[in-house]
Amino acid sequence: MNIINKIENKHKEKYKKLLKSNKFIKKVSFLNKSRNNLYKDFYEILLKMKDNNISLKQEEIIQHLTIISIKDHKLLKLFNKINYENYNKDLKSFLNNLNTEVDLFISIKEESNIQLKNSIACLLGLACGDALGTTLEFTKNEQESLAQFGRGEVTERGSQEHHTDIIGGGVFKLKAGEWTDDTSMALCISKSLQEDGFSLKGQMDNYVKWMRHGYLSSNGRCFDIGVTTSNAIKQYLHLKNPKAGSKEIHHSGNGSIMRLAPIPIYFYQNINKTIQYSAESSLTTHGSPECIESCMLLGAILNLFINNINNESKKELIFNSNLESILNLKEQKVIQLLNGDSWLKLKYEELPNTGYVIDTLRSALWCLYYSNNFKEALTLAVNLCGDADTIGAVCGQLAGAYYGYDQIPNHWISIIKESTYIQKEAYSLFLKK
Ligand SMILES: [Mg+2]
Repeated sequence: MNIINKIENKHKEKYKKLLKSNKFIKKVSFLNKSRNNLYKDFYEILLKMKDNNISLKQEEIIQHLTIISIKDHKLLKLFNKINYENYNKDLKSFLNNLNTEVDLFISIKEESNIQLKNSIACLLGLACGDALGTTLEFTKNEQESLAQFGRGEVTERGSQEHHTDIIGGGVFKLKAGEWTDDTSMALCISKSLQEDGFSLKGQMDNYVKWMRHGYLSSNGRCFDIGVTTSNAIKQYLHLKNPKAGSKEIHHSGNGSIMRLAPIPIYFYQNINKTIQYSAESSLTTHGSPECIESCMLLGAILNLFINNINNESKKELIFNSNLESILNLKEQKVIQLLNGDSWLKLKYEELPNTGYVIDTLRSALWCLYYSNNFKEALTLAVNLCGDADTIGAVCGQLAGAYYGYDQIPNHWISIIKESTYIQKEAYSLFLKK
């Protein structure tokens, strides 16, 4: 009953009506409740209000939420992180989102399953690298690069240095937190895995919806699609074969490694399946041997990072895990990625920033390997400029899976568009439900 005293007078009638119609609220006390119970009680009240057609505007709900939870500062802080601007005014949708968002904020931080936390961080890390890097994307020679690789091949670094926060802008003039094709395509794979299991057709159908209607995009539009990917999707629409990726060596762009995270998360219990399906996932849009084997290598390393419950070092995981025999690679340049020959001794200034799959992977591996934490890895990666968002997205997958959820800055978690949705996707992929 204390709730009644805490709300503004003008809304009392609404709550009185609620009280009359629902016995349950008499049991509710907001004192001495744990955060979880406090939240659940409030959620119940909102549902009852909805069932009884007591309408409150979204702003009013937030206001009451603040009033009611005022004694619980941790909870208040939690609610303040919610990105309300994405919610429409429909109460049902608001409640659904609130449910997901708050549950996740509470549960992931307190989660003890390291593999689950690493998995969520792997997908969220992809989005962070993408959103951080888009500011510096295509800083030079955009047209040449698109022609050559279907993505950005940039040979000179941009003038911006030390870009360290997610601020949007860039060539696509995005809002802070909006991400690009890398994350959209990853979410397309994730959605398909959950609906159909591993299905190239399902993945392709989602790519089509993304290309045509902005499905699973950060702002409702497909504003950034690589030429190789676009051609493959068009060919799929024409011939209906989902293995539509070009097999040409000069079409070895980074478009299939940038979106890989859902595969190693979904198959995290089995490294052989992870490698097999990582390779297959490339075939939809990038069918060259280097693209396929790069996906295999990245998938295998992500698998090891996700399962790193004994806190082994990067060096042990990458170089001492018998990956050579597990992967059985044929492509010389991918073998040089695996043994470090093509990147381990490079200086930062010597790292490539092109959209060529081998270049992107070796720069991402370098930035992960020589970083001390999640943010440093991503900052190193995107400040290479060039294909910054994708180098960031690949490094973000690695850094998220290796350093784990707790290292992702809270500010980034809250600013990433559809952050809750992304985390929920990873959660569902991991649990396969
Ligand atoms: Mg992109």
